[in-house]
Amino acid sequence: MKPNIKNIAVLTSGGDAPGMNACIRAAIRTGIYHQKNMFGVMQGYQGLIDNNIIPMDARSVSNILHLGGTILKTARCLAFKEDEGMETAFRNMQAKSIDGLVVIGGDGTFTGAKRFGEKYGINVIGVPGTIDNDLYGSDFTLGYDTAVNTIIEAIDKIRDTANSHDRLFFIEVMGRDSGCLALRTAIASGAEAVLLPEKETSLKDLITKLKEGASTKKSSSIVIVSEGNKYGGAYDIAKSVKRKFTHYDTKVTILGHLQRGGSPSGYDRILGSRLGFAAVSHLIKGETMKMVGLRGNEIKLTSLEEALHAHTYKLEDDLLEMTHVLSI
Ligand code: ADP
Repeated sequence: MKPNIKNIAVLTSGGDAPGMNACIRAAIRTGIYHQKNMFGVMQGYQGLIDNNIIPMDARSVSNILHLGGTILKTARCLAFKEDEGMETAFRNMQAKSIDGLVVIGGDGTFTGAKRFGEKYGINVIGVPGTIDNDLYGSDFTLGYDTAVNTIIEAIDKIRDTANSHDRLFFIEVMGRDSGCLALRTAIASGAEAVLLPEKETSLKDLITKLKEGASTKKSSSIVIVSEGNKYGGAYDIAKSVKRKFTHYDTKVTILGHLQRGGSPSGYDRILGSRLGFAAVSHLIKGETMKMVGLRGNEIKLTSLEEALHAHTYKLEDDLLEMTHVLSI
């Protein structure tokens, strides 16, 4: 039976990602359009425990569509993993008669939402928000497109200086378990090589590739290093390569947290709006314990169970081979 949901709360949790604000705006306004009482929870699950739950109206989300980060803030909240913390969160929601919850975040956030939903019968919908694009059930996650563009912009700038000085740059990008960002940004920036968490790194092959480039008059080389690759960080790899290959002056750049920030791209604004709209629309229709995602340009629902347990991103070998071919 369709629940008569009246009060809906929205939170962002885990790592922030550009486009979260577009999603919050869409979720809040969709609820208000349907005459629901809408709430914003500050700092993810921590705000549920601390009762930091704020009534929102349509104007509470004015002028945020273009902003990076999340106006609701985010936090890693260990207390929510404990029974006591979850119980307090539930009581605080109950006191405000909140009967629907939209959680925007990654797999940790969904794990928490699933446990919470199962234990207390909360109606909950997840929105995939992470720059890593490593969740099952959505072709793209919120923030990924902006991160790709941010990284490319940074690499383009590094390429200018690398070219001018005949340098070899190792650029470390985010992706502890997934090489999706690294592989895509390697293609888009014309990197000479890319090191990924999913593949063993052969220093010998890397040096052969760099030597080939130098012998065919490449004036600079760029190697993208995914932070989760098995050989180590960009500094370790640069040091090992430098010992055996001295043709270029070798430099390292760790892009770090700048990859997470910035104004969301047009794509992420649209994706955030679609996912926020879909999350609240489906919650009102009676869906629960599901994630909204984009598959083949259509909004699809995936159970939280499947989103968490089906395998996530599978590295595309054909794209890796293409990167190798195009960088001769
Ligand atoms: P992400 O959502 O980006 O993967 P985290 O892994 O940090 O980020 O998870 C975000 C939050 O989700 C955690 O800080 C915690 O509050 C909650 N969470 C994660 N795992 C669990 C769990 N097993 N039970 C309850 N809550 C969890």
